[in-house]
Amino acid sequence: MRYDVIIVGAGPSGIFTALEIVRHTSDKKVLIVEKGRSIDKRHCPKEETKTCVSCKPYCHITTGFSGAGAFSDGKLSLSYEVGGDLPKLIGSNKVQEYIEYTDKIYLEFGADPKVEGIENNDAIKEIRRKAIEAGLKLVDCPIRHLGTEKAQEIYFKIQNYLLDSGVDIRFGSVVKDIIIEDGEVKGVQVADSNTKENENILYGDRVVLATGRKGADWLKDMCLKHEINHSAGTVDIGVRVEVRNEIMEKVNNVLYESKLIGYPHPFRNKVRTFCQNPGGFVSQENYDNNLAIVNGHSYKDKKSENTNLAILSSHNFSHPFNQPIQYGKKVAELVNMLGNGKILVQRYGDILDGKRTWQDELEQSNVKPTLPDAVAGDITSAIPYRPMMNILNFIRAMNTVVPGFASRETLLYGPEIKFYSNKINIDQNFETNIKGLYCLGDSSGWTRGLMMASVMGVLMGQRMCKG
Ligand SMILES: Cc1cc2nc3c(=O)[nH]c(=O)nc-3n(C[C@H](O)[C@H](O)[C@H](O)COP(=O)(O)OP(=O)(O)OC[C@H]3O[C@@H](n4cnc5c(N)ncnc54)[C@H](O)[C@@H]3O)c2cc1C
Repeated sequence: MRYDVIIVGAGPSGIFTALEIVRHTSDKKVLIVEKGRSIDKRHCPKEETKTCVSCKPYCHITTGFSGAGAFSDGKLSLSYEVGGDLPKLIGSNKVQEYIEYTDKIYLEFGADPKVEGIENNDAIKEIRRKAIEAGLKLVDCPIRHLGTEKAQEIYFKIQNYLLDSGVDIRFGSVVKDIIIEDGEVKGVQVADSNTKENENILYGDRVVLATGRKGADWLKDMCLKHEINHSAGTVDIGVRVEVRNEIMEKVNNVLYESKLIGYPHPFRNKVRTFCQNPGGFVSQENYDNNLAIVNGHSYKDKKSENTNLAILSSHNFSHPFNQPIQYGKKVAELVNMLGNGKILVQRYGDILDGKRTWQDELEQSNVKPTLPDAVAGDITSAIPYRPMMNILNFIRAMNTVVPGFASRETLLYGPEIKFYSNKINIDQNFETNIKGLYCLGDSSGWTRGLMMASVMGVLMGQRMCKG
């Protein structure tokens, strides 16, 4: 079987590539190869077990149709300023134009028409005034919130649309290698995801790699093996912070998500808030290499009493060490080791007092952890001095914008690490130095969010239709 286009990975960037192709032409044979299951068969056993059982061979939260997006709560950031570096590659105006285009596709498939963060101008001005006082920048970013359960419905409809339109989707198949001859892509070598057996080669004129953050390690190996040009990227080291909704009420109501950026003294690294979840839940995702990483999401209807958000400190390396993924992994391993393989949680006040948090002390606070199997302990023993200081100084600054944010009972969960890492060298059509080989979405290092990954997919699909 020979395909016109083989897409590796059914995350938003991969599925929007296929979607845009079949919306515009019916004469292309398109295949998606996806390691995980179809969206209707994805299921995280934690709902029954109440504790993460580290599913093997992959985590159902991050793997399967719609990628890391399916079980995320689907906050679509509607500004080119948020979600990655794509504007640097193709220009801000084009990215904004395609955000609006892609947003309409999400609406067609049933997204909530309501957009958060565009009203209450006076209230936004007041938040910005406080941010300036604290030395932070408030980024304007309207948000369309799909909600965890609704996001799954929308992606289910997209999955059915693709299948009805003749796209072949091979679930439970992992791409092990890329077939390249004389600097030109020829296809991919696939195997069964569970057994790693039944290897076979699928031929395609063009291959689109859209393997997400979880594919970062594999893609790095491919880059080295096939001399795909790339450069070392950034790694974000951080924590997930959880407070009572009452503390975040104003920001939640006015902005839904506060995008704040600072460069705290003395290191001046970029530190930012990310993925804010009003009434949300802290969650755990597991990487194939057994790393437990914290995250967060919120449902459209089911609400908790807490708000969580990430605080991330960005780090780059040059000489003699330039392997951000390795650095992030070591930090995650150390935090996991202190939590006996689980997510660690510590109260902000205990950090200030130079002590660990004990499990029974968590019961004494107003804020109750929404990740019940997180283990109380000492994050500061594992996160290096530089990111830790950045995070603590940022929390202090946040307290000016959100009074009570830096209270003693505020919870810090770790590790929250974003492995964007290797940036693949691509041209404006997203083609690598290998003819016919393209790279998209979070795996390319150019995006870091649902909307930007989807936009890259749309542009890729349109490019594929041009022949
Ligand atoms: C818990 C959580 C919450 C999030 N919340 C938000 C949010 O609210 N808003 C937001 O903008 N972003 C959010 N994100 C980030 C967002 O989900 C990602 O940025 C987005 O999904 C990236 O899309 P992608 O297509 O690049 O990759 P992914 O969605 O990661 O998809 C990659 C796919 O490739 C498959 N794959 C990998 N390697 C192979 C291989 N070798 N062979 C075959 N298949 C392979 C994987 O199984 C996966 O399905 C969240 C992420 C998580 C984990």
